[in-house]
Amino acid sequence: MPASVVVVGSLNMDLVTRAPRLPRGGETLIGESFATVSGGKGANQAVASARLGAQVSMIGCVGEDAYAGQLRAALQAEQIDCRALSSVEGSSGVALIVVDDSGQNAIVIVAGANGLLTPGVIAGYDSVLEAADVIVCQLEIPMHTVGYVLRRGRELGKTVILNPAPASGPLPADWFSCIDYLIPNESEASALSGLPVDSLESAERAAGQLIAAGAGKVIITLGAQGSLFANGQGFEHFAAPRVKAIDTTAAGDTFVGGFAAALACGKSEADAIRFGQTAAALSVTRAGAQPSIPALSDVQAFKAS
Ligand code: ADP
Repeated sequence: MPASVVVVGSLNMDLVTRAPRLPRGGETLIGESFATVSGGKGANQAVASARLGAQVSMIGCVGEDAYAGQLRAALQAEQIDCRALSSVEGSSGVALIVVDDSGQNAIVIVAGANGLLTPGVIAGYDSVLEAADVIVCQLEIPMHTVGYVLRRGRELGKTVILNPAPASGPLPADWFSCIDYLIPNESEASALSGLPVDSLESAERAAGQLIAAGAGKVIITLGAQGSLFANGQGFEHFAAPRVKAIDTTAAGDTFVGGFAAALACGKSEADAIRFGQTAAALSVTRAGAQPSIPALSDVQAFKAS
């Protein structure tokens, strides 16, 4: 049996329009193309963990619309266990995305069903949490639900990972003792710590502040610079593999999903970080979010080359 990762989080249908430029208020523009693409940080991280070697279950909510079936099918196609996906009234989570010819985008996210993932819903799937080796959460579901999952994960003795994305400010102080690995990117680390983060040195200061606030272990992802690991004892910088970046969408999701899968499969912390980074580096060489996430065999081939 492969090791088990349970992702508790969001599923969004990305409605992606390409237009020559972003519309002004009140303006109607003729677009160039339209596509619906499965996304949401929770679903992306679940797909990454599944492609990268873990047995994955997803706990989340979809609505009662046409997107619900597509979102579920996209996960099932990755052999992700969807028995803990609830159908709730109203729309599924959606992200309305307009991308202009220069690559700039404007995005509106509507939580929809993701906003109805309550502690009560999660309590109904306690056996799924119990079966996990590693539990992964993000912040695209209600904050009190995240708090519940972190506490329950700690009570059950699981390895608990929080990717605090999107982050708008400091985390509740009582969360830190329930989190094994806090994994923000630079802007999230800045929002969490209140400090600017734009270099290795400033990342060390922010990580130090988060450790002082009670975080056990922090991994700040630094884009092409790799990542900074911090615990109470000190810091370690992991350089990213050098690749030709095409599209960095979902790099963070690939890192988190890959790190979780590697940890669940028994790799050491340092090896799991290197594995996540190799997977994320491969993802930036490909366009899109879920389509860019590599398979385990791609990561193994990359290592061998
Ligand atoms: P996010 O996608 O959340 O903004 P980052 O940009 O920090 O997160 O990227 C997450 C991880 O992806 C990094 O820690 C790194 O390992 C990898 N990565 C991102 N961009 C590149 C790149 N240009 N080259 C190699 N690896 C990259």
